[in-house]
Order: sequence, then structure tokens, then C-alpha cells
Amino acid sequence: MAFALRIIAADGTARAGVLSTAHGDVLTPAFMPVGTAGTVKAMTPDAVRTTGTTIVLGNTYHLMLRPGAERVASLGGLHRFMDWPGPILTDSGGFQVMSLAKLRKLDVDGVTFQSHLDGSTHRLTPARSVEIQHLLDATITMVLDECTPFPATPDEARASMQLSMRWAERSRAAFRPRDGYGLFGIVQGSVYPDVREASAHALLRIGFDGYAIGGLAIGEGQATTFAVLDATMPHLPADAPRYLMGVGTPDDLIGAVQRGIDMFDCVIPTRAGRTARAYTSDGVFNLRNARFADDAAPLDPACACPACTRHSRAYLHHLFKAEEMLGPMLLTWHNVQYYQDLMRGLRTAITERRLDALAAAVRAGWAQEEPP
Ligand SMILES: [Zn+2]
Repeated sequence: MAFALRIIAADGTARAGVLSTAHGDVLTPAFMPVGTAGTVKAMTPDAVRTTGTTIVLGNTYHLMLRPGAERVASLGGLHRFMDWPGPILTDSGGFQVMSLAKLRKLDVDGVTFQSHLDGSTHRLTPARSVEIQHLLDATITMVLDECTPFPATPDEARASMQLSMRWAERSRAAFRPRDGYGLFGIVQGSVYPDVREASAHALLRIGFDGYAIGGLAIGEGQATTFAVLDATMPHLPADAPRYLMGVGTPDDLIGAVQRGIDMFDCVIPTRAGRTARAYTSDGVFNLRNARFADDAAPLDPACACPACTRHSRAYLHHLFKAEEMLGPMLLTWHNVQYYQDLMRGLRTAITERRLDALAAAVRAGWAQEEPP
């Protein structure tokens, strides 16, 4: 089974395809729920599968600290450990080191940091990150990079990008190719089109199985995110998967799919589910709001998840008011279902060449409801 993306339809710059991997097919455009520490929080693997999810993301930083990559390997790898036989993409750990770890120190060869759990000292280099992802048995491995902080000056962005490109080369050298497994490079360069272009060309010279766009959705705003995509996408090969990291809201996903992105990951649907925020075809609801206390209607009549087909808004409101754990469970399931229904709709619309019409219809639905 070769690791390959087969494009089956295109609508403008958007495309729908099938990514074949050692652990099964991924229908693209694909949304990957985040399974931070070997679990998509508040969901069983069967529930995740039921939503139409074909690939999940695991976090190297969390798994290397607890339970440890070698332990996961000795227990049969992450697929067996978390009972997710399908494809898994792992990040490199770099982003969480920068956002979570204490006393981190970056140098030209990697980053040394203290665990946020127990203060123990760890080191992550491009080669070690790739080795950890190998131990986890990640279907898709990401190169270690530096997520350039925002804002950054052009000089800072270029220096940071060049460090990431050196690390990308070392990650490529450390990666052990196996049938059906892939290694993705990551385009950096902040908001500067020329730096993004230079990064894309540097990655193409090294050669990867897929190309991610990193360093976005960190405060620059949607218009800038889309402008960076417009500047970057023409420099990425058409036959390789393109992954926009850490994005985003449903509206972000639609705009990025229209620009040719194939893969996404984001904590928004799962995190929102734990804080009573529901994404629906009528907009975003906060289920804690008192106006739902007597609302016997389903959360989203268009949704087939258990929260919507078996319960009322009033019951979901009650669960959150009473701090019952079923509230976050049901709402996480719903939000992931909503995201996967949206992706399925986008894939179908691309196949039928009516993506812009679908995007307008979805946005019109959201406009009915003022976000809380
Ligand atoms: Zn639902």
C-alpha cells in the first residue's frame, strides 16, 4: 500500500481525493479530531469512528512525557494502545514545547525543556522527534519546526524559517520510509509571502510525502491566514496532500478548502464541547444560556448524533448546569459530528462542482443566529 493522494474531483482550486495509507484511506478534505494524550477527550474510539472521522491526531509532546514513547511502542504502538486502527498523524512536539513546557531553551540543534507535569528535563531534536513518532507508529510523521511567534519582523521570520528548514532536512534524514507511511514538511515564514515561498521551495528540494502550512491561526486573523494561503499554495505540488495546521472554525475550514487545503486539525470542536459551546447549522450556541432551560427542541435538527436525536436542548442545558460529565461527552460528540458532516458536504460539493453555492448556503444558516 503506497502512501499516495489520488485526486478524484476539483472545483476551482478546491479538490477532493483519497489518501491511501498503511492504516486505511483518508477521504479529503479531511478534518482530524485532536487525540492529545492518546484519546479524543470525552469520546470513545467507536464514537469517533461513528462521526465519519477517518484519521486522528496525536500529540508527541504529551505522549513522550506520559506514558512515554518507548512504553507505547512496547505495548504495540499508539493504534493498539488507544484502539484506533485507522490512520494517525502525530505532530512533532515543537508547538507544545513552546506553548506548555517550562524553562525551554532553543538552540540550533533542538530544544531543551522542562516537563509541565513534573519539571523533569527533556530534549527534542529533529532526529529524536522523528524517532518518537516512529515508536508511536504514526502513519504520518511531522518534521520538527519552530512555530514562528506572531508578530515577527521579516528578518525574524526569515531566520526562524531557515532554522526550521535545517531541521526539516535532519528530520528527512532520520525518517525510516515504510510502505504506506508518510513524512510531511512544514512551510513557515509568518505573514511574509516571499519568506513562505522560499520555505516551500526549500521543502520541495528536500522532498516530502505531504506539505503542511504552519505558524497560522496564532493571532493574525482570518483575512491574513487566507492571504498567506493564497501566496503559498501555488508553490506546493498538486499531487501531494496539503495540511493546514491548527485551523480552525467551520468558516476557516470552508475558506481553506476553497483554496485547496486537504487536511485540518483543531481542538475547537472538542474543547468547545467541554465548555458548553455547540457548533450547529444555525450558528454557535452556548448551552449554559438560560434561554435553553425550557427548550424541548433538538440541538440541531439537521444532525444525526445522539445529542441531537435523543435529547433536548433543555436536557443538555441541565447537564452543564449540574456539571454532569455526560454534558461534555454529548456535546463533544455533536461538535465532531458537525465538523465531519461539514467536511462530507464539502467533499460532495467539490465532486458536484457546487462548492461556492454550498459555502454560501452554510454561511446563510449561521447568519440566522447571533453568536453568544
Ligand atoms: Zn448533533
